[in-house]
Amino acid sequence: MFLLDLRPNCECCNKDLPSETHDAMICKYECTFCRDCADNRLNGICPNCLRNLTQRLVRPLAGPAGELAKHLVSTKRVLKGSGCLENNMYSQERLIRAET
Ligand SMILES: [Zn+2]
Ligand SMILES: [Zn+2]
Repeated sequence: MFLLDLRPNCECCNKDLPSETHDAMICKYECTFCRDCADNRLNGICPNCLRNLTQRLVRPLAGPAGELAKHLVSTKRVLKGSGCLENNMYSQERLIRAET
């Protein structure tokens, strides 16, 4: 069974990316970025694992399947301070990795 670990924010700029947004981009390993970062900063390539970023599927949150899906949505925020290499606006103090 293939389950996505939906992350609630962009690793790059920490923008909120709710599960229903169409602006979330993920790589094969579920590194998550907003579309703006993916297009303008990362050139569509995940900086973590150098895989192509693709649009994250919007998980339907209605009906029994949706109820189940809600429990699968990750609330773990991951922020990669060195993710945006070009815009080096994230100093060490911004290198926040939320622990579960
Ligand atoms: Zn972003
Ligand atoms: Zn990745």
